[in-house]
Amino acid sequence: MDTIGVLTSGGDAPGMNTALRGVVRAAAAYGKTVVGVERGYQGLIDGALRPLGPRDMSGAINRGGTMLRSARCEAFMHAEGRATAARTLAEAGIEGLIVIGGDGSYRGAADLVAEHGVPCIGVPGTIDNDIGGTDYTIGYDTALNTAIDAIDHIRDTADSHDRLFFVEVMGRGSGYLAMMCGVAGGAEAILLPERPMPIEDLIAHLRKGRDAGKASAIVVVAEGNVTGGALEVARQVSESSEFTDSRVAIVGHLQRGGIPTAFDRVLASRLGAAAVEALLDGESGMMVGVSGKEVVRAPLKVAWETRTRFPESLFDLVKLLSS
Ligand code: ADP
Repeated sequence: MDTIGVLTSGGDAPGMNTALRGVVRAAAAYGKTVVGVERGYQGLIDGALRPLGPRDMSGAINRGGTMLRSARCEAFMHAEGRATAARTLAEAGIEGLIVIGGDGSYRGAADLVAEHGVPCIGVPGTIDNDIGGTDYTIGYDTALNTAIDAIDHIRDTADSHDRLFFVEVMGRGSGYLAMMCGVAGGAEAILLPERPMPIEDLIAHLRKGRDAGKASAIVVVAEGNVTGGALEVARQVSESSEFTDSRVAIVGHLQRGGIPTAFDRVLASRLGAAAVEALLDGESGMMVGVSGKEVVRAPLKVAWETRTRFPESLFDLVKLLSS
C-alpha cells in the first residue's frame, strides 16, 4: 500500500487535528503518501482531495476543530453515493482509508468495506465517549474539562447568590459526558437520557439538600434528557415547586472547541499512528482504541454493538457525596 486517504466525519471533536497529524507523520515515516479528504464522506463524493505532507501538520498538535472540516453526508447513506465515493478513491489511487469519527462514520466505513472492498480503519473521534472498542474517545477529555470549567464558574456565582442553576451539557443519545461532568463538578443532581428522573423526585432531592443547609445547587442536565433540556426542566421545577428563582446555563458548542488536553493529544497521537500501522498490517474493517494502557484493534461493528456506558455505581456516588 502506497497511498492512504484520511477524513474526519460526523460531529467534530477537539484532538481530531492531533489524530490527523499522527496519521500523516506516521505514514510519511513509513514512506507512504497521504491524501486528505475534505468535509468527511461529502469530500469523497465531490472529489475534494488534497495531498497532506508532514510539514502541513505544523501547529496541528494543539489546534482545536479539524482542518479537513467535517460534515454529515446524506448521499453516503445510500449505495449510489458510496459507489461514487469508491470511484473517487480508485481514481486518486487511494488504497486504504482512515476514518476519524464516531460510530455513524464507522457504519459508513463498514459499508464501504463490504460493498467495494476498500480497506478502512476507524479512529474514535467524538466528545461523547460512548462507543465500544475503546476506553476513551478523542475529544472526550477536552469536552469534559471545558464543561467543568464552566460549572466551576457557575458555582462561584451560584454560591454568591444562593442560587439554583441548571447547567445543560452536550450528549444527545448518551449521558456519559454529563455523568462525568456531574461527578467532577460536584453537582447536586444529574439528569440523563439513560436514567430519567421524574421532576417530583428532583424537587424532593433539592428540598432535602436545602433542609440540610445547602444554599445553592447545581443540576447537570444532558442535552438528551427525556423530560427536556435545562430550560424545560427549570420551567417544570419552577411551576411545581417553591424553586422559582433558578438560572439556566447551556454549555453547548463551547464543549466542542478549544485546545485539546494533554490526555487527548497523547490518545490522538497514539491512535493516528496505530491506524496507519493497522492498514499497513493488512487490516480492514477495524477500529483502533485503547484498553487500559494498551492500543488495541477491534472490528468496526464493536463500536455500535457494545456501547460504552458509565458505571451505574456513579449514581450512588453522586447521591452519597451530594448529601
Ligand atoms: P458520528 O460519526 O459522529 O457518529 P454521524 O452519525 O452523523 O456522526 O455519521 C457521520 C456520517 O457517516 C453521516 O453523515 C453519513 O454520511 C455516514 N453514516 C452514518 N450512518 C451511516 C449508515 N448507517 N450507513 C452509511 N453511512 C452512514
